Amino acid sequence: MSVGECYQKQTESDLSLIKSRCNYPSPPQRNSIAFWQLLLGLDNWQIKTIRISEMQVIDDHYGDIPGHEFVGVTIDNAIRCATIYHTRSIFEDDIIHELLHVRFQDWTEEEVVNSTNKLQKLDNPKSYIAELKPIYTFK
Ligand SMILES: [Zn+2]
Repeated sequence: MSVGECYQKQTESDLSLIKSRCNYPSPPQRNSIAFWQLLLGLDNWQIKTIRISEMQVIDDHYGDIPGHEFVGVTIDNAIRCATIYHTRSIFEDDIIHELLHVRFQDWTEEEVVNSTNKLQKLDNPKSYIAELKPIYTFK
């Protein structure tokens, strides 16, 4: 998987450099990402967002023709960097969805969708997250 500049090999001591090079999204997106990052235990991750053109997106479901709305995430576990690519503005449900992909990397799309829906409605998402069993565990 290619995640641009975050894909470069870095040592632990270089992580602060990556941080300064990452393209941070502007608030309130940034606040929402920080909020869910913390809740999901991803606070030691770099989360970038990159806006792309619909013409850069090819979807199998539409016969490989470019020009589709897209929100997706690429994950680099080695340097704990995730990049959300999006062709449209992203909202809180997109952020929850993509961060769930990062936190629970073995989950199916359906599991991520179901948990996103639940988390959005909960007054206390923290206790719900605490009960989720991560299949993927961090070192
Ligand atoms: Zn998804």
